[in-house]
Amino acid sequence: MPNSRVLVVEDEPKVADFITRGLREESFQVDHAADGMIGKSLALANNYDLIILDLQLPRLNGLDLCKILRQQNSSVPVLMLTALGTLDDKLTGFEAGADDYLPKPFEFRELLARTKVLMKRNNAATEDNQLSIGDLIMDLHSKTVTRGGRNIQLTAREFALLELLIRNTGRVLSRAEIAEKVWDIRFDTGTNVIDVYINFLRKKVDKNFETKLIHTIIGMGYVIKVAEAA
Ligand code: CA
Repeated sequence: MPNSRVLVVEDEPKVADFITRGLREESFQVDHAADGMIGKSLALANNYDLIILDLQLPRLNGLDLCKILRQQNSSVPVLMLTALGTLDDKLTGFEAGADDYLPKPFEFRELLARTKVLMKRNNAATEDNQLSIGDLIMDLHSKTVTRGGRNIQLTAREFALLELLIRNTGRVLSRAEIAEKVWDIRFDTGTNVIDVYINFLRKKVDKNFETKLIHTIIGMGYVIKVAEAA
């Protein structure tokens, strides 16, 4: 699954390096957090396909981080890593919401195999289901959007545009790419249709909310993300 996004939350530099380098060689997009708090902000701000989570971490341990994600209704698959390989630890990890568990030390190919299984399972479960960013949830079945529990009415084109942005959370999309994927047209520099639709979307999705999700990157395009707290 090339281009899948993985977050590695691991404080031991050697282990973190071993995992991130290996996954990047397999064409995954990998972010790394060296403690639980950074892991938490990254995990809540982005749509990852998998989180590889060490159990013992500075500032916020893996179990508590996993619980927080589940309380926020995140269904991202979590693979828990730990040096403690006892059954009790394993059960505690599952109770906290982890999907799988890998005791250290492990071989990279074992980690990779489990990573692929978890992603496949997750794709099957969430396909045609829900996408989310921050407090905004898109239901791809019922074609409904809510933010902070409030319904947001979107036209079909606005819905497609929002879906594209969320599927690429944190990545800047050029107008040409948006035109091609949402309108199925070659980008014509004479048209401002994308800017117009982005404005429609902003009025509905961001205007009445304190945290803005849709951001303009001048000269480049648009990105959806939960901005880092100042
Ligand atoms: Ca650790």
